[in-house]
Amino acid sequence: MAHLHRPETLAEACALLAELDDPMVYGGGTAIQILLKQGILFADNFVDLALIPGLREIGRNGSELRAGPMVSVRRMETDRQVREFAPLAASAYRNVANPRVRNTASVGGNIAHGDYRLDPPTALLVLDATVDVASVRGTRSIPVREFFVDFQLTALELDELITAIRIPAVPPRAAGRFVKNSSLSANDWPCASAAVLVVDSGAKREVRIGLGAVAPVPRYVSFDATGLNDQEVVDAAIEAIAPAVEPIPDVRGGVEYKERLARVTVEDAVRGAWKDLDA
Ligand SMILES: Cc1cc2nc3c(=O)[nH]c(=O)nc-3n(C[C@H](O)[C@H](O)[C@H](O)COP(=O)(O)OP(=O)(O)OC[C@H]3O[C@@H](n4cnc5c(N)ncnc54)[C@H](O)[C@@H]3O)c2cc1C
Repeated sequence: MAHLHRPETLAEACALLAELDDPMVYGGGTAIQILLKQGILFADNFVDLALIPGLREIGRNGSELRAGPMVSVRRMETDRQVREFAPLAASAYRNVANPRVRNTASVGGNIAHGDYRLDPPTALLVLDATVDVASVRGTRSIPVREFFVDFQLTALELDELITAIRIPAVPPRAAGRFVKNSSLSANDWPCASAAVLVVDSGAKREVRIGLGAVAPVPRYVSFDATGLNDQEVVDAAIEAIAPAVEPIPDVRGGVEYKERLARVTVEDAVRGAWKDLDA
């Protein structure tokens, strides 16, 4: 029978992850509960982070925003600091599932879940966020762009837990757009999603694209869009994403459908961000 451990400090949680047989961090539990019910998750020991103080805080640290791992997805959607500092991230978190899931799911659990269809990683990729982790061996920081390793596999070691997500300030002249397209119902997982950030440094214009649900992992692509007009930038974006789009066929659509939807989704996001930057 599985045991639920409820440490009251981070050090205690790290020690439990190092000592116990087959341990698993318990965040909001929305993914864990479903996987348990489906009979595809087996863990002997769950380490619940709910009683550890300080893990539900959002704050500014110099030129970056820091969110604790137990901050709810709903709070990332509604918190004024997140909406003002990283509106693109707030927009992606707002698109996760439905209010019931968003109220319970945590920032740490969302990214650690490692599912290729997750919405928030698309924005975190273009914003160049960092994942802070801890274990009995110490702490380390992983760029989000190196976090998703393979299908359902992240860069987290088995004894590590996420302690924060850090999002740096976007450059002064930049515009972002998150677009999600679902094929079953409005608040279902995406069939294709994209976050786009266009950054204008004066001499150069860069387009950054985070792709969700169209490859075995969330993918990141960027290209130089200096001097392009609003049709050329869409054409360049569609060309740039082509090698990164490797859809997994499922009930939400086959390969060709998802490839096409990826192009439509990216076109909408690029057009939107490009227009906002020049508005
Ligand atoms: C009906 C439904 C629809 C959904 N639709 C969407 C959608 O449209 N878009 C989307 O993006 N997501 C969607 N999701 C997924 C949802 O975002 C995840 O279930 C949720 O974010 C997981 O967060 P959690 O805190 O509940 O994680 P948990 O269920 O607690 O954990 C998930 C995984 O993360 C690990 N973990 C948790 N916290 C930490 C931590 N601090 N450090 C290290 N590892 C940790 C756990 O060990 C586990 O492996 C949906 C989920 C459901 C149930």
